[in-house]
Amino acid sequence: MHECAGKAYHRLGIWGQWDPCSRSATVQRDGKWYCWQHDPERVKADEEKRRADWDAKRDRELAKYKRIARNAKLGALVTMETAGLLERLGKEADLSYEKAGDNGDSHTGWAIQLHHDAKAALALAASIREVLEASK
Ligand SMILES: [Zn+2]
Repeated sequence: MHECAGKAYHRLGIWGQWDPCSRSATVQRDGKWYCWQHDPERVKADEEKRRADWDAKRDRELAKYKRIARNAKLGALVTMETAGLLERLGKEADLSYEKAGDNGDSHTGWAIQLHHDAKAALALAASIREVLEASK
């Protein structure tokens, strides 16, 4: 029966100390004997697995943040498109309203409402652009 060449940490109160492992050795590596726990090959395999798990976790996290960044970029593009659409509709409505006035047509209630909506759309488009510019 061989003794394990590994060391085991033993707690002593709030501290501790390293003592020779008390398990019987089961494998021999480079002329030294080790128990299953202190087998250098098992320790190495364990570390490699931990590293591989960590790498996989990091890759998953990175992929997640890339997805979030992509979605945010897409969101900004959609918002910019929306601002452009609001601006175009607002200007068209504004123009129609003024043309109607030039033709001497009376501005009916819905046209006045449309004019207000157009101004609101233009203001919203301007503030969206402002926010997008500031966040660049
Ligand atoms: Zn041991």
